[in-house]
Amino acid sequence: MKACVLFEPGPAENLKMVEVRDPGPPQEGELLLQVEASAIDGHDLVERQGVLTRGGQPVALTAAEELDIKENGVWVKKRGHILGHEIAGKVIAVGPGVTGFQVGDRVAPSGGTNCGVCDYCRTGLKVKCKNRLRRGLIGGYAELALVPAQAMMKIPEGISPVEASFVRCAIGTPLRGIMLAGQEPKFHDNILVCGAGGGLGIHALQIVALSGGFVMAATTSEHKVPLLKQYGASEVIFTPTGKFHEQVMELTDGDGADFVVDTVGGTTFNNGGFRALAYYGRYIFVGQINAEYARFPVPWLFWREAVITGATGGQYEDTLRSFELLKKKRIKAVVYETFKLEDTPRMHALLERRQIFGRAVIVFP
Ligand SMILES: [Zn+2]
Ligand SMILES: [Zn+2]
Repeated sequence: MKACVLFEPGPAENLKMVEVRDPGPPQEGELLLQVEASAIDGHDLVERQGVLTRGGQPVALTAAEELDIKENGVWVKKRGHILGHEIAGKVIAVGPGVTGFQVGDRVAPSGGTNCGVCDYCRTGLKVKCKNRLRRGLIGGYAELALVPAQAMMKIPEGISPVEASFVRCAIGTPLRGIMLAGQEPKFHDNILVCGAGGGLGIHALQIVALSGGFVMAATTSEHKVPLLKQYGASEVIFTPTGKFHEQVMELTDGDGADFVVDTVGGTTFNNGGFRALAYYGRYIFVGQINAEYARFPVPWLFWREAVITGATGGQYEDTLRSFELLKKKRIKAVVYETFKLEDTPRMHALLERRQIFGRAVIVFP
């Protein structure tokens, strides 16, 4: 199969088009997919750059596996990593022990890998699942992918594979983050979305706009300003330097934002996201696309009796709600461009330069 493989963390050119041996039959709990659409996101960037760590070694290295690669007509073994966790495709084989799926089903990510039946899962603590599979959802930059059935759901009627590929990640994650904040935004609230033109941002913006509140969208890309108004921003804060809390204070008569949805992470938090937070405000992290740590003087938090929270990713119920919002046309899945697998390095570079508005999605012929 054709695949775009990362052999060494680094710049976009490190993603190489190669011929990889087709994956074997699905093992216990797995599905084999013919990939139809595979979206790229900020998580892929930090993984590719080798700056995504989970308490130690870069994930790009720990997740690498031995692959059979065809070079000059000969199969050779090489360690590599096939990125891509926003995968939609057709089931072509079902592994032992899998229920609820059959060959021919069209599926997309539903949530993290969790069993749905352990005590944690059954009490709403899915992120702590006892039976989490070792191998998560990965391998979307290839024609075929083995995926854990736990992490997938059937694509609802009327939604394309291109849209479905990123619903869990780009819509489910901010939706979950907002719900976990303990309160949801209301019509009288001031709401700030940081990194509003990105894949998570443009969907977070549409979700918070449903509240009827005063929605501010912060972006570092000038060309995204008119588009952000179109997708529900009451005001757009264009901030080439990435600093913006003074504009937020001005726009809110000194009150600040009752909700901040931050899709960027440490840099936006330090550059003004936290200072823009109102008394009793809720700061919601839904992404980290760089390696910077968030820093703040602790008293600032307790003076304001504010809350900082975050969501690791949409879970089944969030993805289900996201699909409902799409089906009822209350929000739109924003696709910037669809492209061929061969173009993945170019699109990674564009994503890195923040040129992409919404999601860019690989499509397979
Ligand atoms: Zn479980
Ligand atoms: Zn993602």
